[in-house]
Amino acid sequence: MENRLQSLKNEALEALSAVSGQQSLEEFRVKFLGRKGLLSSVMKELSQAPKEDRPRLGQLANTVKKEVEALFLEKKEDIAAGEQAHAAEAVDLSLPGRFLPCGKLHPVTQVMEEICAVFEGMGFAVAEGPDVETDYYNFEALNIPKHHPARDMHDTFYVSDSLLLRTHTSPMQARIMENQEPPLRYIAPGKVYRCDSDITHTPMFHQVEGFLVDRSVSFADLKGVLTTFTRRIFKGDLPLRFRPSFFPFTEPSAEVDIACVICQGAGCRVCKRTGWLEILGAGLIDPEVMKMVGYDPDEFSGFAFGLGVERIAMLKYGIDDIRLYYENDLRFLHQF
Ligand SMILES: [Zn+2]
Repeated sequence: MENRLQSLKNEALEALSAVSGQQSLEEFRVKFLGRKGLLSSVMKELSQAPKEDRPRLGQLANTVKKEVEALFLEKKEDIAAGEQAHAAEAVDLSLPGRFLPCGKLHPVTQVMEEICAVFEGMGFAVAEGPDVETDYYNFEALNIPKHHPARDMHDTFYVSDSLLLRTHTSPMQARIMENQEPPLRYIAPGKVYRCDSDITHTPMFHQVEGFLVDRSVSFADLKGVLTTFTRRIFKGDLPLRFRPSFFPFTEPSAEVDIACVICQGAGCRVCKRTGWLEILGAGLIDPEVMKMVGYDPDEFSGFAFGLGVERIAMLKYGIDDIRLYYENDLRFLHQF
């Protein structure tokens, strides 16, 4: 009897070590631990053992049963854990891919980069200056002395008596001309500030100022550069129109229109039935500005222009309210 129990235990241990899945585990349970299993039948035989041996054999049989049961439960847990780990590793090819939201450049930044790329392609270098500018560079060096009526057009944010948030990126023209000799070909992109807000104005907006200084630069050169620029930005051969205008730092000055990008000049709501859209201001650099930085206006001449990036982007994409750029509405921003 004792030997039978011992060999049954060994047999059970061996069988258990061969168990590798739910099915063979269940077969093991029925064979050894089931109601009609081998352990039960040995227990039953206890009644036929000699009376004085029964307690000892009964205890031994119980110990063997408990050991086998404990090992069985251990194995059961191992198998369950193994199956879970396997399930976690498995790749379900029918699941949809994971969507990783990815940010992109703001439409104003995109157009700004595009504008810079066009001018860089024509040999212009890029220069950036401070947003907080001195009154001197923002106004005086550009031929706008104190109390000049042109200052009223600028709705300036003053930081102190002599410091302000630049109202245009033109100060870079004076800063560069002061430190370098012609020939010069620069654009100055950046943020500018004016105390103004409505459907076509925001207190902060972006400008690209450009200028070129060399010997015998004429209005024809300005027209050539701006024509190339509008053709590349608006991807079409749109006619340009120069209207006489006034800026203190250019003489003569012009406001430049292109044929309406929406109706090609036929007249529509966007161009207010005129067929033309104003896109920038430009002119030949005023001799006074040349003198201020120590250039001889009889030897050198140049042109300058300034354009609003938001305005160009509005025309390019048919946006009718400038404030949309700054409301951070993803439904708007996702379209670019
Ligand atoms: Zn139009």
